Amino acid sequence: MSKAKSSESVKVVVRCRPMNDKEKASKFDRVVSVDVKLGQILVRNPREASELPKVFTFDSVYDSNSKQIDLYDETFRPLVDSVLLGFNGTIFAYGQTGTGKTYTMEGVRNDPERRGVIPNSFEHIFTHISRSQNQQYLVRASYLEIYQEEIRDLLSKDQSHRLELRERPDTGVYVKDLSSFVTKSAREIEHVMNVGNQNRSVGSTNMNEHSSRSHAIFVITVECSELGVDGENHIRVGKLNLVDLAGSERQTKTGAQGERLKEATKINLSLSALGNVISALVDGRSSHVPYRDSKLTRLLQDSLGGNARTVMVANVGPASYNVEETLTTLRYANRAKNIKNKPHINEDPKDALLREFQEEIAKLKEQLEKRVGKKKRRRQRKRAGEGEDGEDGETEEEDDEEEAGDYWREQQEKLEREKKAVLEDHSLVAEEKERLLREKEKKMEDLRREREVGEMLAAKVKAMESKLLVGGKNIVDHTNEQQRMLEMRRQEIAEQKRREREMQQQVESRDEETLELKETYSSLQQEVDIKTKKLKKLFSKLQAVKAEIQDTQEAHIKERQDHEQNQNELTRDLKLKHLIIENFIPLEEKNKILNRAFYDDEDESWKMKPITRIEDDHQMMSRPPSAVGYRRPLSHHAQIAMKIKPDMRYKVSCSLFLLAQMSAMILFSRRRGATSPSQVQSLMISSSWVYNPSTQTPPASSTTAGLNVEFATKISGNT
Ligand code: ADP
Ligand code: MG
Repeated sequence: MSKAKSSESVKVVVRCRPMNDKEKASKFDRVVSVDVKLGQILVRNPREASELPKVFTFDSVYDSNSKQIDLYDETFRPLVDSVLLGFNGTIFAYGQTGTGKTYTMEGVRNDPERRGVIPNSFEHIFTHISRSQNQQYLVRASYLEIYQEEIRDLLSKDQSHRLELRERPDTGVYVKDLSSFVTKSAREIEHVMNVGNQNRSVGSTNMNEHSSRSHAIFVITVECSELGVDGENHIRVGKLNLVDLAGSERQTKTGAQGERLKEATKINLSLSALGNVISALVDGRSSHVPYRDSKLTRLLQDSLGGNARTVMVANVGPASYNVEETLTTLRYANRAKNIKNKPHINEDPKDALLREFQEEIAKLKEQLEKRVGKKKRRRQRKRAGEGEDGEDGETEEEDDEEEAGDYWREQQEKLEREKKAVLEDHSLVAEEKERLLREKEKKMEDLRREREVGEMLAAKVKAMESKLLVGGKNIVDHTNEQQRMLEMRRQEIAEQKRREREMQQQVESRDEETLELKETYSSLQQEVDIKTKKLKKLFSKLQAVKAEIQDTQEAHIKERQDHEQNQNELTRDLKLKHLIIENFIPLEEKNKILNRAFYDDEDESWKMKPITRIEDDHQMMSRPPSAVGYRRPLSHHAQIAMKIKPDMRYKVSCSLFLLAQMSAMILFSRRRGATSPSQVQSLMISSSWVYNPSTQTPPASSTTAGLNVEFATKISGNT
């Protein structure tokens, strides 16, 4: 359990899914083969049978028969174990859509054999806690999604809300206002996951498409408190990010324009930024790592070259028609192997929730203690007064609850008795009687209230304490012991497999790389033979490397062409907006807007400074009375009309916008030589600026409208 900041590589494993029914039916060739012993993936070129297969070596590889539990024991369990020790851990599932990312992460929910790493980690974490001793745990979960560079909290009630990233010098990047749920068992955290999964599909017409374009991140934070040798409680916090990435396939950009284009560029952003971050990290030459280029890379900055242990699972399909994507994935994964992380145990971080809980519980207990103490003293005084033996074996730790109950009952009865006495006392005048009765009633009321407060405090302590988990309580010992032995065996086997694979890989690379130059030969002929063989081997290796270079270059060219195409389309889009602004927005308005606009780095968006008076630059312009409560000034008539009937006509922003658009249209028509209103109208209809209700359907959303509305809301949002 060292705290030293030693560096270690990102672990990369590859998993190849089985052929699916469709692929079998279509009799596709299998081009991917998996050498589990050597940790190698071999990919055959389906068009060039004579060509040597391309070979990639990884930390471990899994073929189509691989079991979820094997992946867990060999690859994920050690990572989750270190999270339980207080390290950060991240698992990425990368690959083309349909290759098994979600299968690997979540698996099949109701089948224990096919459960993925997320549910397996739940079981693992809570079993570990139940077996722990002298430790206190707090486990909580969050679930978020990044879609089109927007962050959505999958556990929040309001699914339309978008969250922002923030950064603090001490704790790093975090999602502001992200909800998290404290969970006490595997069942509870599973429920959290299910809720999030349900929300993932909300609003998406096609779940498959949505999940292939969005990144889902399930976060488990495990806090553990333990008494240190210094006599102080120390808290370690491990965070596990479980990331199901968007499909890595090249986005087909058929007719991408406007909104579609914006969508396409944004979908690519987080994934390509991830690629760029990996490149920058392993390149060695670039000093700048572009974490800030996307939400995903910013949020998971620690997992890439920082304070975390990271496993990447690259998923591929076996069939020939996927060969290009498969190779791209393997190259990507190959590069990721070289990322160096610097994980360390997070001890006593400032934002540990467990610490807050402990302090709050202590505070509440103190308050409770004070109340109970008061009562106890009173009781003891009473007992002493009655001359009874107060020390009749009652310990300090006697059941406080019972005692409290007694106390309340006694007090209640006492008051009842007194009340009755007053009622029966015929010597009192009516007024006096009433006053005394009221007094008793009030005392009873106070008593009741005090009791309620006490009970509330006790309940609160109980609720908070129940969230802190301690081991050794709910173990069903016998089966548990057997299970533990079984797990240990499995771990040993996994470890053994890993060692074997490493040795094999070493032997292989020694064979290839060291030329055994010191070898002596019995004859010249033998020397020639052996060296020829070696030469052949080296030559084929050279060919493989050359082919790899060629492939990489081609991939680069393709990528560059993609970027260029993207850029061209964006430039075209920009030109249109430019045209609109130059022609339809008065110069002074444009300048005003330009002066007010500023870029908010934190929110990564353009914003408008509030309008200021010219003579007084610091004071906000006050709103005219007719506009209070509305977006724009409104006539009295319109206000009344709006209340009576919510007519579009009086939706101010709309009517003002229409007005602006109308004047723009007229300006446009005048410039084109129209002199009379009818000429203006016909020109507008002919150039589809307005639609003719009798002959045309309304335009769904023209770009101009989109632009103006965007401006309108941004501006009004800031005034
Ligand atoms: P992705 O999330 O990458 O788009 P999925 O996880 O949804 O892909 O997998 C696509 C299909 O293939 C699913 O029906 C899944 O059950 C199946 N599948 C994927 N990997 C495996 C595997 N290793 N073994 C069996 N079935 C798999
Ligand atoms: Mg998926």
